[in-house]
Amino acid sequence: MKINTGRLLRVDLSTGRTAAEEIPQAFTEDFIGGRGYGIRYLYDENKPGVDPLGEENKLIMVTGPLAGNTAMAVSRWMTCTKSPLTGAWARSVCGADFGAWLKFAGYEVIIIEGKAARPVYIHLTRDDCQVLDAGEIWGKDTRQAQEWLTGRHGSASRTACIGQAGENLVKYAAVVSGRRTAGRCGTGTVMGAKNLKAVTITARRHLDLADPETYNRLAKEQVETIRNNPGFKSHKEWGTTSTQDITNGIGIFPVQNFRYGQLLNYQKISGEAYRKLSTGDMGCYSCAARCGKVHTVTSGVYAGAHSEGPEYESIWAFTGPIESASIEASIRADELCDDFGLDTISAGSSIGFAFELYEKGLLKKSDTDGLELTLGNHKAMVELVRKIAFREGIGNLLAEGTRRAAAAIGKGADIAAINIKGLELPAYEPRGAKSQGYNYATANIGASHCYGYAAQDIFGAPFPRPTDRFGEDYADVVIFNQNGTARNETGICCGFSGGWGWGPLFGKLLAAARGIDKFADEEYLKKVGERMWNLERAFNIREGFRRREDSVPKRMLTEPLHTREADGEGQMVRHQDAFLDSYYKLRGWTREGVPTTEKLKEIGLGFAAKDVAEQKIIK
Ligand code: SF4
Repeated sequence: MKINTGRLLRVDLSTGRTAAEEIPQAFTEDFIGGRGYGIRYLYDENKPGVDPLGEENKLIMVTGPLAGNTAMAVSRWMTCTKSPLTGAWARSVCGADFGAWLKFAGYEVIIIEGKAARPVYIHLTRDDCQVLDAGEIWGKDTRQAQEWLTGRHGSASRTACIGQAGENLVKYAAVVSGRRTAGRCGTGTVMGAKNLKAVTITARRHLDLADPETYNRLAKEQVETIRNNPGFKSHKEWGTTSTQDITNGIGIFPVQNFRYGQLLNYQKISGEAYRKLSTGDMGCYSCAARCGKVHTVTSGVYAGAHSEGPEYESIWAFTGPIESASIEASIRADELCDDFGLDTISAGSSIGFAFELYEKGLLKKSDTDGLELTLGNHKAMVELVRKIAFREGIGNLLAEGTRRAAAAIGKGADIAAINIKGLELPAYEPRGAKSQGYNYATANIGASHCYGYAAQDIFGAPFPRPTDRFGEDYADVVIFNQNGTARNETGICCGFSGGWGWGPLFGKLLAAARGIDKFADEEYLKKVGERMWNLERAFNIREGFRRREDSVPKRMLTEPLHTREADGEGQMVRHQDAFLDSYYKLRGWTREGVPTTEKLKEIGLGFAAKDVAEQKIIK
């Protein structure tokens, strides 16, 4: 059986040169693909200390070995780079069809280097790759840009692009494909800095598998297993549009910029309430879940607003931070974020930050372009989304993210800057879900719920052991979740599919796709997850990250949570140092959070051991 490592396309925007490369088998053996390839290449090719918005920072688009086939929920793709928001390793995952199309074009990885002299887009087919003028679509939103590119290259094309937020270098700009986004960490900002508006792929379905017969048999089994799973059926029905019913009920829905854990009258934003405005379902390539719920507003001030979303995180981002129960405003704000190419989580959190500072008098009406940032003022919130995308007035400050904005304002504004490593927190309150909070604190990209989701805290998942959600001694569970997510993103399989009962088939599918038998061994996959996590950590160590950056925001350490009618009143994060000691020990790192030489060698990262040792910080 042939071994299939996938292929890589390198595009140098400074010179316009493009070249196809084979991916070394050693990379595949050790990292499998997907996020594994992303960190392996970025670690090798990004010199430490490069300016994230400079020519030297590379942007990697990568899909997984399973993409473009009949297996379900495995055609996702991601952008990897050094984040302009955090300065750390970044990966941001996206759905829709683009991952499958990259595979159809004959590639799994595109490495984009340099910077174009003027706005351009990349057009890729199976036989050709061109860097073309994007003058006509620079300044257009993501919907208009994609329509223009489809008009030019035909309906067998799929695009990943930026909107005005990326062009204007908003620090948390997203990459958008269809109406799905690689939202987090500002990977769209890196595209904008490179003068790259879009990547468009024109291709037809094409299979490229080491062992197609085995693969297809396994894929059939996977689809059957999933279709009979109750978790799948529920996700198909609701997507994530009812998660707020759970998080409000247990007091972990962050409200008023993470001061409360439950929205007043939260029943007004229930899953049922969103369902009343639902007008369709959308999904990703070869996934019958079609979990993206489309919403349309038919009356009132937001009549005509129409969005593939908001999903749970965006429902929260445009209600909780400003204590608003306007579903219609959340749909409009979500639509604008998709149009402009903005991360909804960082946008909503930056807006909540501004509202709190306005309440405390640190921002005045003269600072906010006349907007009254008073609780519940959703019209001001929607206007701020636009101002951020165009860096207009107060939007210019908020476009920098909460960490930089707080530093610019001073006067104690940092208590309201709710981020970790510069990345704004998602919609789970750490004081009421401590293992989730510690996952945020130690995640290599900053505060992300998709980098080791603590389903034990939120849904009572019993693996590898149940947690007390207020407890702070579950370092083993946090590591289990983090390594498991890394393992799954070699695929790249959708995080939602983790509970659909097909786990044991994942490795077998990888083995059949690659022609490498050991991928079917669960113990081997676990090792790969750990290896990826450690290489990302080594990347961050080279960039100067240490223990001090592995912290929940100051508010969680110094102020009690208020939960209104839910449990958890008065909770705080009280034992962070003890948690970190235990977490680092289990990981085989020093007290400063640095992987030891022995650990790195043990997991096949000897090449990184030398770099880390040169930092002279192993104690
Ligand atoms: S479950 Fe939803 S997000 Fe995941 S692959 Fe399917 S449609 Fe896409």
